Amino acid sequence: MLTKTVKSLGLAMGLFACSLPLYAKNNVVVVATGGTIAGAGASSTNSATYTAAKVPVDALINAVPQVQDLANVRGVQALQIASESITDKELLNLARQVNDLVKKSDVNGIVITHGTDTMEETAFFLNLVVHTDKPIVLVGSMRPSTAMSADGPLNLYSAVALASSESAKGKGVLVMMNDSIFAARDVSKTINIHTNAFASQWGALGTVVEGKPYWFRETPKRHNSSSEFNIESIKSDSLPLVGIVYGSDNMLPQSYLALQQAGAKAIIHAGTGNGSVANYIVPTLNKLQSEGVQIVRSSRVPQGFVLRNAEQPDDKYGWVAAHDLNPQKARILTALALTKTKDAKEIQRMFYEY
Ligand code: GLU
Repeated sequence: MLTKTVKSLGLAMGLFACSLPLYAKNNVVVVATGGTIAGAGASSTNSATYTAAKVPVDALINAVPQVQDLANVRGVQALQIASESITDKELLNLARQVNDLVKKSDVNGIVITHGTDTMEETAFFLNLVVHTDKPIVLVGSMRPSTAMSADGPLNLYSAVALASSESAKGKGVLVMMNDSIFAARDVSKTINIHTNAFASQWGALGTVVEGKPYWFRETPKRHNSSSEFNIESIKSDSLPLVGIVYGSDNMLPQSYLALQQAGAKAIIHAGTGNGSVANYIVPTLNKLQSEGVQIVRSSRVPQGFVLRNAEQPDDKYGWVAAHDLNPQKARILTALALTKTKDAKEIQRMFYEY
């Protein structure tokens, strides 16, 4: 109807020989990396037994032709792997590829199809290193494309809706799963067999219904254009090595020492409760800290929140508290922090700001 109005207006003014659409569709690039959304099983009842990373990006897009009503969608195959096999090398390459794409004037938004296992790490990394206000949306699925009630097609449709929406600009990297919009920094995979796998301890930012985003929150944390990290200033194909030690009762000092021997520059202690450290492990962590290995206390509790100087005297020991970032997010931020500083106080500031 708008087009019709323009046409008659144009004819009336004698300026237009043909109709002009008032609103051009945005251009969205789907960057495919593999995962279950590109998975295939032997039969439609195989919802959990299948091979990830099989279906190529064009087939993924063509399976949901409705996305072309939302935006001009084209695909790029960046990787074709299960996300647990992603290393810092792939992470850096992907960030460079996404960074190149968002700089193009004919790209308005990015959708990254991704395995769900480490989607939260990739989303957080991009959130920290790609300087743009254009929407970057990660999406996956819990059931393979061949399964009965596959969740990938609607997730992809919603992700394209989000990536092409002006309302998603400047909100940080987003994860679109199961109708919900999450902030990259605090979303986490919480169950591995249900479609409502993703959650944040602080709640979703919003929801997408019938291809339209509805917003309810924003993250106050630094991201993208306001981040001090930038993929353009990282020249290496690797990041400083950061390892994670999972906390439990009956811990072994050797777990931490082995990481130091492997070259770790920081160790994330995924402690019990408030990032607690067993009394017989404290001397090992203090030894490592005095030898230049940063110690970051995170929590193995799914909705962990590590309070500085509670449980352990972080100021006295020179340790860092991971605040509300889970161990895998803490690994990403610490690795980036170490590209800038070796000062535990500076690293602590970063944990509060991102
Ligand atoms: N482990 C695989 C991956 O993360 C499949 C899981 C999924 O995508 O849901 O790529």
